[in-house]
Amino acid sequence: MSVAPADPVVLSFEDARRVVEEQAAQVKAPGTELVDLLAGAGRVLAEPILADRDIPPFPRSTRDGYAVRSSDLASVPATLEIVGEIKAGEKPDKLPPAIGPGQAAAIMTGAPVPAGADAVVMIEHSSPHGQQVEVTRSVAVGGNMVPRGAEARQGSVLVDRGQRLNDAAIALAASVGKSQLEVYKRPRIAVLTTGDEIVDVGADPGPTQIRNSNSYSLAVQIRDAGGEPVLLPIAPDEPQALRRLIEEGLKSDLLLMTGGVSMGRYDLVEQVLSEMGAEFFFTGAKIQPGRPVVFGKCRAESPPFEHRQGWGSQAKYFFGLPGNPVSTMVTFELFARPMLEALAGQAPRKLAFLHARLKSEIRVKTGLKRFLPAILSGEFEHSEVELVRWQGSGDIAATARANCYVVVPPDRDRIAAGEWVAVLPR
Ligand code: AMP
Ligand code: MG
Repeated sequence: MSVAPADPVVLSFEDARRVVEEQAAQVKAPGTELVDLLAGAGRVLAEPILADRDIPPFPRSTRDGYAVRSSDLASVPATLEIVGEIKAGEKPDKLPPAIGPGQAAAIMTGAPVPAGADAVVMIEHSSPHGQQVEVTRSVAVGGNMVPRGAEARQGSVLVDRGQRLNDAAIALAASVGKSQLEVYKRPRIAVLTTGDEIVDVGADPGPTQIRNSNSYSLAVQIRDAGGEPVLLPIAPDEPQALRRLIEEGLKSDLLLMTGGVSMGRYDLVEQVLSEMGAEFFFTGAKIQPGRPVVFGKCRAESPPFEHRQGWGSQAKYFFGLPGNPVSTMVTFELFARPMLEALAGQAPRKLAFLHARLKSEIRVKTGLKRFLPAILSGEFEHSEVELVRWQGSGDIAATARANCYVVVPPDRDRIAAGEWVAVLPR
């Protein structure tokens, strides 16, 4: 599947994405570390979280009411004898004996349903008179209670390794008594911005110079995807200096470059990488923004010619992302993120899209799959979306106003107002 950069390989979006996913599937899991429960939020789990006992550990009432034998309520109203009261957390020796025919025990939400009872009737359907209660509704076996172990059996996997820890996963970890969690170490992701016109944030830009913004948008996206950004100095459009910085970047787990991958005379990234013996999986994707995106693998030092066939473990993946700021952001999301997530130990997942009605017509040329900055608004069943006005893929200001990208399939030159479109949140 590898090609010399002299043969451009421009893939459809779907094929390019598949190539990245195939490579990502071959990445081996990173090292692990132990962190405190809350520090685990947002990290990728490196050990399965197991149920330390049955969940729930006892048949749990889900209502305030009366624990009953459902057969006693075959015809209602029925009057039962109250034999006790069970509150949540009641000590086992305080629990009433097994419920017999014609008997009931008052019970609270979260309390254990006593032996003999097979359901709970809600307090709303009962009226107590002294030691007796009149029940006005029947209840099915198992009604208003969760049997012991119904949510999980002791020893079963609650959250598997490779999952990113969200609120529910942290809650589960807490519920099984894990005060520390083993998580994968964050991969180091090198960011190399290229271009003679680019100066850093602190500098006073000359009239034709541009401040580096891509390194910063990428750093944010890298952190969000679970990586540790390593910002390298800005590379000039000059092969020797560029090569030295690429070699530096290849010491990290993944190298992201921005700029220098288009067709211009000073777009040197592919040239330098091919001189270094890089393997290229694709050199473009039929998308907009982001068409010149490059994906490949390279060693820091080029191996002797005769060893170029089998790549050893030293070879690192790289992406050459187009320099236009919106292209950089979009191509990171579409292609670099799945590779980064794999390097972070995360289980693979597919891109997820929302759907909304288009507020006003879109007209474009066919041939490219487009991811156009847009504003998603409305709520419930009235989601609607509208493109932001933009000056093309250099327009960060327009993109900052956007909260999503509208996806336009490559075979559509017109999408009418009111049509449903796929939306990639941002
Ligand atoms: P290139 O991909 O190198 O042809 O760059 C495409 C456009 O993106 C040019 O207008 C560059 O000035 C701009 N650009 C490249 N790198 C950056 C960066 N790091 N920050 C902001 N703009 C950039
Ligand atoms: Mg450039």
